[in-house]
Amino acid sequence: MALDTKAGGRVEGRPATRRGGASAPYTEAADIEPLREFIRRMTELASRTTEEAQLLEGGRGLLAELIADSRWLPEAFAQPHPEFYQQYLLHCDPIERFSLVSFVWGPGQRTPIHDHGVWGLIGMLRGAETGQRYRVGDDGRLQPEGSETRLEPGDIEAVSPTLGDIHRVANAWPDRVSISIHLYGANIGAVARHVFDPDTGEAKPFVSGYSSPVVPNPWDRSAQIRAALAAGRS
Ligand code: FE
Repeated sequence: MALDTKAGGRVEGRPATRRGGASAPYTEAADIEPLREFIRRMTELASRTTEEAQLLEGGRGLLAELIADSRWLPEAFAQPHPEFYQQYLLHCDPIERFSLVSFVWGPGQRTPIHDHGVWGLIGMLRGAETGQRYRVGDDGRLQPEGSETRLEPGDIEAVSPTLGDIHRVANAWPDRVSISIHLYGANIGAVARHVFDPDTGEAKPFVSGYSSPVVPNPWDRSAQIRAALAAGRS
């Protein structure tokens, strides 16, 4: 289990990210251009509107394009941890209007029941995950809302305080790694939110943080420019 609810949901242990030297794995992606394009277009969208419905609709379209192919994700941000599910920050908007996170599930790993406090979109990249929504009943206890859902690659699910914000998520596979890409309407690693006791419904505050101190670099376009320069010379 990745989050220790007794410790307020803090992820314990060292990040599973491999540390490289001169040949750091952070530039291993075959083609990181889809991530660069997503960041560019999501920044434009966040600059056009602050309406949740528009951000969810537009964000869903952009996320669908991003997860249509998984080869852009650098290996360093696809590494599972034997004990804890990993939340690698891929990008945070400079004024924290949105963030993009690679969620890497080891076999059988799952979250506690938690909320988000902001809108979010979950896009399945590799493997599969299951989710169960909850709501707080009149007696203050949690009640499952609807049946368990399953996301397969390409599927997208939304959460938000207005749509329903409390759920539990798990790797659907007991024997393989799954990865989903999450888009949130804030710097999610810095949002004060809650985990819930499944029996009593008691809410405890937590902040998720991130599993790695670095983010991918999608901004090195020098190969493309170099090729154009070479073509101009010949
Ligand atoms: Fe969640």
